[in-house]
Amino acid sequence: MDSLKINLEKLRASRKKIVGCLPLYPPMEIFHAMDLVPVTLWGLRDMIRNLNESDRHIQNYSCSVARRAAEFILSENGMMLDGIFAYNACDTLRNLPEILSNGLQAAARPLPMFQIHIPMVPAGQTNARDYLCNEISSLIQLLEKTFHISFSSDRFQDSVAKYNEVRNLYRRMEKQVASGKITFRDFMIAFHNSGFLPVEDQIRFLSESLACCRNKEPESQNHPVMISGILPPPVPVIQAIEEAGLRIVCNDVASLGRYYGYSPEPVESAGQYYAGFYENHIPCPTLLYSADKRMEYLDSLLQETGAKGVIFAGEKFCEYEYFEFPYLQKRLNDQGIPSLLIEIAVDDEDHIASLKNRIDAFAELIGQHQGRK
Ligand code: SF4
Repeated sequence: MDSLKINLEKLRASRKKIVGCLPLYPPMEIFHAMDLVPVTLWGLRDMIRNLNESDRHIQNYSCSVARRAAEFILSENGMMLDGIFAYNACDTLRNLPEILSNGLQAAARPLPMFQIHIPMVPAGQTNARDYLCNEISSLIQLLEKTFHISFSSDRFQDSVAKYNEVRNLYRRMEKQVASGKITFRDFMIAFHNSGFLPVEDQIRFLSESLACCRNKEPESQNHPVMISGILPPPVPVIQAIEEAGLRIVCNDVASLGRYYGYSPEPVESAGQYYAGFYENHIPCPTLLYSADKRMEYLDSLLQETGAKGVIFAGEKFCEYEYFEFPYLQKRLNDQGIPSLLIEIAVDDEDHIASLKNRIDAFAELIGQHQGRK
C-alpha cells in the first residue's frame, strides 16, 4: 500500500482531527498548535490512481495537482478529514473550495471549510500586514469555535520550532544529495514516505534518514543540474535524469525547496509570524508578489551549488508556471546556461520514453558545455 495512505490511516487511528490543506504553503503551525494535524494535499501521484470523482466536477484540462486533491477529498479518502483549509493561489485553486463544498454537500458529508486571503501585493508597494494579521486572527477564532480548542501562544512557539526543524532537516538532506552521498531519487522516496506524518514523526524519520547517509561515500561527481517546477518529476523521470549522468544538486520545486528553503525567526504574534513568512518566502509563481525575484533567486542557487543547467518540470495546464518559462529560459540562455523544459501530465510516469530521449540529449549538451570550460 502507498506510504501516504498508511501514514494517513495511522493518523486516523490516533483519533486526532485532520485538516486537509490547499495549496502549497498553509500556516501549518497554527493547526498543530491547536492539536489538529494539518496534511498538505500535494504529492498524491502514487496514492490517487484514478480521477473518477474529480472528473465529475473539474475539467480534465486542469492540472494534476488540483485534480488529485479534488479526487482525494471527494472520494472515500476524504472521509478521513475533519476539515479543509484553503488560501488563494492560482485561478484553479481559488475556485476549488466552492466546487469541493458543493461536491461534499451533494455526497451528504459536508466538512468545515477554513479560508483566508493572502494579499498578493509586494511589501515595498503596499503594506498589507494588518490585513493578513486580521485574516490569521479570524482563522484562529473559527478553528477555536469549530473544534472547541483554545489557541495558546506558547504552543504556537513550540509548533514553529518543530516545523522549522523539519525544514532544516530537509535542507541538510538536500546537501547530502548535492555532495553525492544520496541520490535525488532516494531523497524523493524519503520525502514521500514522510508525507502525512505528524511533525514529531517527520523529525524522527528525517533524522534517522540523515544518520544513515552520514558514513556513505559520495558517488562519482556527474554533471550538476537544478530542477524546477511545482512538483518534482515522477521517480522514473528522476531515475532517467540520474542515469543520463546528471546530478541534481539543487531544486527550485514548490513542494520541496520553495517549501523548506526559508524558516522565519519565531515572533510572538502568529499574525506577524505569517506576515514575515509570506513576505520573505522563496519566490514562487503562486505567490504573485514574489515573481520579480524569481530570476535573482535562481541565479543565486546556480552560483551557490555550481549547477550547470536547469531542467524545468512543467506541470501540464499550470498557467502560472508556463507564463514564466519562456522568460526564465531566455534569461538563462543569455547567460549561456542550458535549460530543458519537459512537461508532466497526469499519467506521464507510465509513458516516459520520449522524455528519456530528451533528457539524454540534454545530458550530452551539458557534457559538451562542461567540456568546453
Ligand atoms: S500546479 Fe499550477 S495550476 Fe495547478 S494548483 Fe498549482 S499553481 Fe495552480
